[in-house]
Amino acid sequence: MTEIQEIHARNARILNVLREKATSLPSPNAVALELMRLVERQDVGVFEVCRVAKGDPVLVGKTVQLANSALYAGLRPTAAIEDAVMRVGVSALARLAVGLSVVQGRGAAIGALQLEPFWRRALACGLVLQQLARQRHALPVSEAFSLGLLADIGELAVAAALGGDARAGTAQGDLGFAPGEAGAALLQSWNFPERLWAALLPTHAPHGAPGELSAMVDVARGLAAALDAQRALQELPGLCMTALRLGLDQASLLALLDRVRADFAELAAILRIRVSPEQARREFDRLRERLGPTAVQAPGQEGCSVLLAGPLACDRDDVRQALLADGLSVLLEPDLGAAFERARAALPDAVVVDVEQLSMPADELCRLWRERDSARLYLLLLGGGLEGGALVQALRAGANDALPATASAEVVVAKLRPGVRMARLIRSLENERAQAHGRQRELAALNVRLREAAYSDELTGLPNRRALDEFLARAWDHAREQREALSCVLLDLDHFKAVNDTHGHDTGDRVLRAVARVLREHCRDDDLLARWGGEELVLVCPGVSAAVAAALAERMRVAVQGLSEDLPAVTLSAGVAQAVPTHADGVDALLNAADRALLQAKREGRNRIVLAEHAPGSGR
Ligand code: GH3
Ligand code: MG
Ligand code: MG
Repeated sequence: MTEIQEIHARNARILNVLREKATSLPSPNAVALELMRLVERQDVGVFEVCRVAKGDPVLVGKTVQLANSALYAGLRPTAAIEDAVMRVGVSALARLAVGLSVVQGRGAAIGALQLEPFWRRALACGLVLQQLARQRHALPVSEAFSLGLLADIGELAVAAALGGDARAGTAQGDLGFAPGEAGAALLQSWNFPERLWAALLPTHAPHGAPGELSAMVDVARGLAAALDAQRALQELPGLCMTALRLGLDQASLLALLDRVRADFAELAAILRIRVSPEQARREFDRLRERLGPTAVQAPGQEGCSVLLAGPLACDRDDVRQALLADGLSVLLEPDLGAAFERARAALPDAVVVDVEQLSMPADELCRLWRERDSARLYLLLLGGGLEGGALVQALRAGANDALPATASAEVVVAKLRPGVRMARLIRSLENERAQAHGRQRELAALNVRLREAAYSDELTGLPNRRALDEFLARAWDHAREQREALSCVLLDLDHFKAVNDTHGHDTGDRVLRAVARVLREHCRDDDLLARWGGEELVLVCPGVSAAVAAALAERMRVAVQGLSEDLPAVTLSAGVAQAVPTHADGVDALLNAADRALLQAKREGRNRIVLAEHAPGSGR
């Protein structure tokens, strides 16, 4: 067996153990899984992906919100799923959908393991990994977020397999594999690419590889875990070492933590993860304190005007005086190696870099500065006899200008003055744009909420007629393509007018809500239960025969009879029809057949289920 076959076989064994031992495992919903299957195919288009995504209007709403969130800051806000898909990319969308639906499918606890703190930690992990991905370009940002969100999902699976015992750390002994391995196996089963799930494997596990992505996941997990007051902080030094391997010193870790903190509340709200702002503030403050005393200036804060970097530049007291006389503030950093970090903390508008005794070509130095800083920084090279080809290369690599070491202070200031002005102008434009973008985002978020509202019924929270129409059309197409059965049940409460007349409209409303809740509990994952209008509901069951749908309806009928004792007793009647859709038939024929069966149930005395005699569209 090749190594990759071995690891796949091991994943399969792990999944078997988990499925055997756990009554339920964390899992994405059907639409998310279908999306993951779809993106495997090369030929799938945006339209097709959107069609599938729309099978879950809540998912659509959340995805659009995510596409407008800090995850994709800087992009034009959108309110349409098609736009959102094009913006985040098809495979990123599918993985976001998996992450979202796993978070949404959560309960309150597995045994002793509380899930609210778990998901808070998962969110922090997603955000840290996303920030790391942004810095290191190791993987697309949205993929990083989904991966981080699910990085510790193995802990949930293991806790479920150990019967709610939260001793995830001892899983190795009890189950023969670590939580990280369980997570990797789950992600593989959800069609995540190997590159992503393999990064969750602990390095000591068989096939665990100490690659860059693994190190990033370790840092993300470590920082997120350290936020949780319940968790030990003694792992922090180890975490800092791993971070250093990724080129992140303490100051950069702190800056990263601050960015995560800034996005945390927005993302928590979208994912419906509960966080008290007070608690979040305490956790972030505490971790910040532990990570080190270095203060990192928040972006946007007013910094110094000019940073003089390197021994020669710092020695030019005449330049410093001239800059001060021109009203510019000045910061000195003789050590070129430390200049990047000084600039990151102080946010200067311009840097004068001494290139006299460089250990690298000047163009490479410029490239490094540009990589680490935004385009707005004005970069002036001083000294080094830059001429001809070397000068052109340095300018191409991002320098704004170069002067010989002997240039007079007046010339240096004359070069810097417009550079600083330009940098400030760009910064204020950036700020304005960020504010405008914030407003646009609010509008887009409002549109999303309106869209969500447009798809659900206010009284019962069930999908409404509009959602039903879209779902039915999709289910119909799917059934036709796959030549599968499609069944439909029309349910109607019996003598409901009398309930209103006797107990009042408010009580009638409560009954409707209770009925909706009970019926929803009896649906399968693939079914759609919608409010048709009034006291009538529709159940769509894809891939199921009328007999099976009728059995489901019968269970619903019995359940409604046993509704809460403090509500008036009600019964329901239902008509069931099945179609094997052909090109010639429409959804209407199916609904009409179910309606006729319902009428018959009413005629025959109510509180019963009737199966339509002829299956429309079956060609019989
Ligand atoms: P049947 O067994 O023939 O279905 O009798 P029914 O009384 O249920 O049927 P009918 O169509 O005559 O009346 C439906 C009633 O449902 C009338 C209306 O007051 C009530 N209803 C419809 N929507 C709502 C609602 O949102 N809230 C409440 N409380 N009642 C509603
Ligand atoms: Mg009715
Ligand atoms: Mg009725």
